[in-house]
Amino acid sequence: MKALRRFTVRAHLPERLAALGRLSTNLRWSWDKPTQDLFASIDPRLWQQAGQDPVALLGAVAPARLDELAEDEQFLNALDQLAADLDDYLSRPMWYQEQDSKSMPSGIAYFSMEFGVAEVLPNYSGGLGILAGDHLKSASDLGLPLIAVGLYYRSGYFRQSLTADGWQHENYPSLDPQGLPLRLLADAAGAPVLVELAMPDAKVLRARVWVAQVGRIPLLLLDSDIPENEHDLRTVTDRLYGGDQEHRIKQELLAGIGGIRAIRAFTAIEGRPAPDVYHMNEGHAGFLGVERIREYISEQKLDFDTALTLVRASTVFTTHTPVPAGIDRFPVEMVQMYFGDDGKDGLLPEVPVGRVLAFGAEDDPSKFNMAHMGLRLAQRANGVSLLHGRVSRAMFDELWPGFDPAEVPIGSITNGVHGPTWAAPQWIELGRELAGSTEALREPNVWARLQQVDTGHIWWIRSQLRALLVEDVRQRLRRSWLERGASEAELGWIATAFDPDVLTIGFARRVPTYKRLTLMLRDPQRLEALLLDKDRPLQLIVAGKSHPADDAGKALIQQIVKFADRPEVRHRIAFLPDYDMSMARQLYWGCDVWLNNPLRPLEACGTSGMKSALNGGLNLSIRDGWWDEWYDGENGWEIPTADGLADENRRDDIEAAALYNLLEQSVTPTFYDRDDKGVPNRWVEMVRHTLQGLGPKVLASRMVRDYTEKYYAPAAQSFRRTSAPIDGLPFGAARELSAYRQRVREAWPHIEITDVDSTGLPDTPLLGSELTLTATVALAGLKPDEVDVQAVLGRVDASDALQDPVTVDMVHSGSGDGGTDIFSTTTPLPVAGSVGYTVRVLPHHPLLAGDNELGLVTLA
Ligand SMILES: *Cc1c(COP(=O)(O)O)cnc(C)c1O
Repeated sequence: MKALRRFTVRAHLPERLAALGRLSTNLRWSWDKPTQDLFASIDPRLWQQAGQDPVALLGAVAPARLDELAEDEQFLNALDQLAADLDDYLSRPMWYQEQDSKSMPSGIAYFSMEFGVAEVLPNYSGGLGILAGDHLKSASDLGLPLIAVGLYYRSGYFRQSLTADGWQHENYPSLDPQGLPLRLLADAAGAPVLVELAMPDAKVLRARVWVAQVGRIPLLLLDSDIPENEHDLRTVTDRLYGGDQEHRIKQELLAGIGGIRAIRAFTAIEGRPAPDVYHMNEGHAGFLGVERIREYISEQKLDFDTALTLVRASTVFTTHTPVPAGIDRFPVEMVQMYFGDDGKDGLLPEVPVGRVLAFGAEDDPSKFNMAHMGLRLAQRANGVSLLHGRVSRAMFDELWPGFDPAEVPIGSITNGVHGPTWAAPQWIELGRELAGSTEALREPNVWARLQQVDTGHIWWIRSQLRALLVEDVRQRLRRSWLERGASEAELGWIATAFDPDVLTIGFARRVPTYKRLTLMLRDPQRLEALLLDKDRPLQLIVAGKSHPADDAGKALIQQIVKFADRPEVRHRIAFLPDYDMSMARQLYWGCDVWLNNPLRPLEACGTSGMKSALNGGLNLSIRDGWWDEWYDGENGWEIPTADGLADENRRDDIEAAALYNLLEQSVTPTFYDRDDKGVPNRWVEMVRHTLQGLGPKVLASRMVRDYTEKYYAPAAQSFRRTSAPIDGLPFGAARELSAYRQRVREAWPHIEITDVDSTGLPDTPLLGSELTLTATVALAGLKPDEVDVQAVLGRVDASDALQDPVTVDMVHSGSGDGGTDIFSTTTPLPVAGSVGYTVRVLPHHPLLAGDNELGLVTLA
């Protein structure tokens, strides 16, 4: 008989074990091995059955066992110690508390559509979500006052299985929030908080708010599946990336606007300060900025532009998309439908709909572009690796017309991964021995101490982890074959499939075309020869989910499955279904080599290779994303790219051949070159070098510190300065900046550089010869100190375009004829060769993040 409905009843813990409740609901257990060990010791078999989920374990364990533990001195000691350790973790001063609080935000709100914190809370589809989860964990470890906001998806993403034919099948198991480490946000009287959004046709979208505790960080998840909603609105948060655009825009409105309302309720109930920095992890939750404008208009009675000035000062936007096709865009009418035509009440009646639409404007007038909205609502923006920063500056340069891509104000912070979540316990233990504490591992020089570790010991850890992976692969293979309809009797071969001594290569990631899942199959014979080599074989583990609507992706998976199904090779290559955090961990721990072959530069950063590197895995990758930045010739291999080649087929051929060559000529020989004790010394030195060099760089604690110092703190300072009153008028500085912006926009078309004079150069100028430039500028009513006039000098190419020029500020030196102003400077020639110069005028205001911020420039 099938149950009509299922729900979870939490166990009643004996009083003496009450701390288990706290330890199970704070997700810090997911990166704290001692706490996991404590839960496992309650009932090791049940712990495995419960999928290593403390809440599920406590729900399933027999009351008699709990009574027994309540009398078990040893268990109680361990429990008390871990509970005290958790309390200490939650209250002790961390890195953030050592910073100068005057320059730091008092609160940061972090918005993301997905969060991969732990496999027990499957709220993610891939890299973006895992990154957000790692951001929260490191923010917790560093003590940041961060509140995270997203949606609670009843079915998460999907569980992947395979049909007999190798086709991806999706399952959407329903999650019961009562069985998850969540609490419902309720007011002082105990009534659940409901966030409300006005929808077209006088409907209302309501959501309750679940709170997950990620160490110190509260994660608020909005859930529309409640009886207070009309039927069709209950499904708004049913799935992640599961619906059409109509479904998606409702999710994004709820995450952005509802997210702000949830934060307001949360901070009021908990007595916390309102955040002063708002970070959009990708543009999906961008409507949060519009809601904040509404707040300022209706609560502080500010005008739209002053409100926008405050929102921009306090908003940080991170883009993760290197291609225009990857950007979230909606039909303009769809956005208009929700915000109401002017004169009709929409979702935010105080905000003129025309202004909302202008945020998302792009070259296609029928589209509303969420990334453009993010950039227009945030004074600070960044990409997620050096290369991706460059790609983003070029991709979005239409928003800053007149500037070379290099000057587009989008920076970069290279992503990172949370060490305690992704490093194998063996490495964490070794790290703690060498460094004295896990915190000390944030200091790069501590990693140099790996020099003291015996080569044999490093190899022993690597081999142990590989052996564990092989065990896990066999179990997963068996399960998958059974699911695909095989019988136990046919599966005898699995007991010896894969080999703990064979070079093991991992390839796991989502399956969009640009990641080229099947590049390795370009020459199947050559791959087969590598797998089956008698002396130096390799084994390959492949995994990844395809978007449910992407049949092309599913066909790629099927191709791999069909290749791997063949008896000749099935003991050396496998596609494992249902790539998730728990499988990922085993792969990163155990694989010797992590393979990545995206179409450069479409991988914005990539983080799986970082997780592998953190475990001494060597990357074998196209120089894209983070690998372009940190490959140093000895920490792995670069697959040469043929980017720029228009013929994609030829490009694939060339890059695949390069991959096979590397495997044949460098990777396998190094792995199998052993000393008399069986240790591959050269390989282990590469492992050691990888850990020493990449270890400290790939950490999310490095990333979160970078965000704090380069984005959060400057944003908090901008916000404080713009919110300051002037002559008793609240938000005076914001009003002034907003008025300045308006004045500059009106004046700009009339600004003109009427004359540029150069003097001082000798007849044959030498490098360093001094040049004096004098420019006459019509400022169209602006004051000389309201603009920046710059000389721009550098080498010029055949078409007179300046290459990597230097800019020199020119000084106001008097007024000229007809109300013009004179600016001048004397500067040495910066380079030899063909040199050119020009002069330009930019807006200048102390509250702008940079003179390029407004995208206005006038050239001579
Ligand atoms: C790290 C991770 C990813 C992201 O990997 P990429 O290198 O960015 O493709 C995706 N899924 C899981 C489960 C991960 O752990």
